Amino acid sequence: PILLEMNGIEKNFPGVRALDNVHLDLRAGEVHALLGENGAGKSTLIKVLGGIYKKDGGEIIINGEKATINDVKDAEKYGISIIHQEIVLVPEMTITDNIYLGKELGPAVRISRAEMQKTTQELLDSFEMGLSATDKISSLNIAQQQMIEIIRATFSDAKIIVMDEPTSSLSDKEVDALFETVRKLTAKGIGIIYISHRMSELDVIADRVSVYRDGKY
Ligand code: ADP
Ligand code: MG
Repeated sequence: PILLEMNGIEKNFPGVRALDNVHLDLRAGEVHALLGENGAGKSTLIKVLGGIYKKDGGEIIINGEKATINDVKDAEKYGISIIHQEIVLVPEMTITDNIYLGKELGPAVRISRAEMQKTTQELLDSFEMGLSATDKISSLNIAQQQMIEIIRATFSDAKIIVMDEPTSSLSDKEVDALFETVRKLTAKGIGIIYISHRMSELDVIADRVSVYRDGKY
């Protein structure tokens, strides 16, 4: 099934046509790579999807229905989770705190610290992280921190995960671990949009590729 379609997307900045009739579609369980030189419009397209930028034209269809995405909360509601290139975890807090940070559990939901820790530990174990839920983020290496970002994205019930240049700071071994995680996610039917400059990675991880140039598909 098709999770997401972006059709005829337009975005203008003063003096720049950043996106001109751009298309992207994403199927359940696939890794779809976005390619293109700097300035091609990849990040702008992702920011439109994530509710960070408002589009000037075009439509977004999620699970066959027209979606309205005006802000980041809307995007989350549609199961869209974006892992940005820069780490946005709080170093002095524990893994558990970071996993639950900013999550709206709803007014009727009360959850104890012990439950949060238990759930976080189960998540860590399911990804075979070899870490404790009470570990501080500052004690983890960059690859582990990136994995926590990814686990956080999956915990929020994401159906569509965007990774913007996720391997730029990882070693070969860490890249292998990341790809293994990506395969676990796609096996669950999650669709992944994967932005990278490294052509060699795409053979290994991407099912399909979309190429952009000067704001065009
Ligand atoms: P990519 O991610 O493919 O490198 P971007 O989406 O970042 O490309 O940029 C596409 C074009 O839009 C570029 O010309 C860039 O300078 C311009 N652009 C992106 N964001 C902004 C912004 N906030 N204000 C003005 N111009 C922008
Ligand atoms: Mg970019």
